[in-house]
Amino acid sequence: MKVIGVHLDRCTGCKTCELYCATERGSNSKFLLRSVQEAPLPQARVRVEGCNQVPVTLQCRHCRQAPCLDACLTGALVRDPETQMVVIHENRCIGCWTCTLFCPYGAIYPWPQRGIALKCDRCLYMENPICVDVCPTRALELVDVDEFEALLHGKRAKLIQEGTAFKKDGKMLLLDLVK
Ligand code: SF4
Ligand code: SF4
Repeated sequence: MKVIGVHLDRCTGCKTCELYCATERGSNSKFLLRSVQEAPLPQARVRVEGCNQVPVTLQCRHCRQAPCLDACLTGALVRDPETQMVVIHENRCIGCWTCTLFCPYGAIYPWPQRGIALKCDRCLYMENPICVDVCPTRALELVDVDEFEALLHGKRAKLIQEGTAFKKDGKMLLLDLVK
């Protein structure tokens, strides 16, 4: 299973990913300059937030045990059997926002204007997610979860051995994606 990982040390907070995500996934026209004139304004499925003046991109991690799936009252959130991605059937969503309370990563967003919840589905119909393709600093990367977990396991073991496991590392990446 491949998910979007983030190199925090490469993210400049430019929000290009947000802009193109909103255009690709939320607009009718699929053209940037036209989409900004649409009403309601198209919304992104990926968000860039700030934390201690460090930009942090937030998007669904497609958790193996996803609390949002249990929380959804209508079965709008489901796991795609082929790709294992957690996806939303917007036509089943009633906009109760219960899922937004249960996602531990804050990766589901209410869209009150349309009365639905929004989340990243990793652009399943495209070879690469649009945010990964457009990021000017290559801060976003499609990563294999198993490979990543093996990498993480090695990194943790090394930090524990060094006695620095809980020190803050400026190069530590979201999703613990490390290189
Ligand atoms: S929306 Fe949140 S809880 Fe659901 S799979 Fe994505 S990260 Fe996990
Ligand atoms: S907002 Fe939609 S997706 Fe979320 S719990 Fe309610 S019905 Fe399900």
